Amino acid sequence: MILGILKDDDDRVALTPDVIQKLTDSYQVFIEAGAGNRAFFADSLYSEAGATIASAKEVVQKANVLVRIKPPAETVFQNLPSGSVVISSFQPYNQPEIVDQLSQYSITVFSMDMLPRTTLAQDKDVLSSMASMAGYRAVLEAATHLPRYFPMLTTAAGSIPPAKVLILGAGVAGLQAIATAKRLGAVVEAFDTRLAVKEEVQSLGAKFVEVEGATDDKDAGGYAVEQSEEYKQRQQALTRAKSEKADVIISTALLRGKKSPILITQETVEAMKPGSVIVDLAAAGGGNCALTKNNETIHHQGITIIGDSSLEAKMPMHASQLYAKNIFNFLKILTKDGKLHLDFENPLIDGACIVHQGQPHYQIPQ
Ligand code: NAD
Repeated sequence: MILGILKDDDDRVALTPDVIQKLTDSYQVFIEAGAGNRAFFADSLYSEAGATIASAKEVVQKANVLVRIKPPAETVFQNLPSGSVVISSFQPYNQPEIVDQLSQYSITVFSMDMLPRTTLAQDKDVLSSMASMAGYRAVLEAATHLPRYFPMLTTAAGSIPPAKVLILGAGVAGLQAIATAKRLGAVVEAFDTRLAVKEEVQSLGAKFVEVEGATDDKDAGGYAVEQSEEYKQRQQALTRAKSEKADVIISTALLRGKKSPILITQETVEAMKPGSVIVDLAAAGGGNCALTKNNETIHHQGITIIGDSSLEAKMPMHASQLYAKNIFNFLKILTKDGKLHLDFENPLIDGACIVHQGQPHYQIPQ
């Protein structure tokens, strides 16, 4: 069986040499020349691990299993051998038409962002690996843009109070942001509509801010659901009050398949202290801040608003390593005795598959 890896759209690469070494029992690996360069994995390391360095065309024409972080271009699907498996992240909940589009080809497609978020999925969960890196990096970006210290300092020239950081959304990214901001010495507050995270927030040393009356839907697979207008207004008012004192806001509140909720209005931005920084990790869904521009850093009345929605790609070496490990663990459940074995009784395989042998295998969540 041939496993193919193509160059990706950013600096990451989907599989790293350490992982390829463990796959050569079941797979012959073909990788596009230079695919790992920007993540500091040279072609020579892939060759030493047992992979063949090839052109993109050759990789596509040979691959029985093709792995990419970002979805490949349409031409790739046209040129894959019939019966191939493609593994990437297609966000079908944001663009359901992709399922019919890919069903034109007699291939099977797995979308890693569709894995059910269960305990069994943890070692394959690319969303968590990447969100955790983004949460860490968001704090570092904020710290470098902030015209002041994070930690409290007592110096001969005077005392510096600690920075105040407000985290909106305490999922994987938010919790990592809390931990990182605490390590840098900031005073941290966080809130989330899911009360289940209160203890986790507190155990990291941050204060949990509560807005009463949240809808916490047990059937939403752990994901937050859209809140009532009344709740949103209460939340915006509280954010506004907290923002006046905050030096940094890191917002991570995403709603699957829906526009991100606006938690920081323009009025709130304008009430912040000059020099303050907002890092909006929900930028891809429109942003939690009304002024956010996806993948841009803007300045509004002295406030910096960073809308980079793939901060993890700024750390391509570890992002690639973690992504590769997740894919390795996923490939293990797709393979038996050196052959592809797609057991649809396994909820992880069933949940992540969006097209099976040219047939749609996806139900749009209600
Ligand atoms: P996410 O990226 O979808 O959302 C980020 C956070 O924003 C969430 O905590 C969400 O509750 C919060 N949020 C949404 N709307 C909000 C609002 N209006 N105000 C404040 N906060 C708001 O979340 P995620 O980090 O990907 O995690 C999603 C779920 O999956 C969580 O329940 C998490 O615990 C669970 N999870 C499970 C596993 C696993 O077992 N494999 C791994 C990771 C996460």
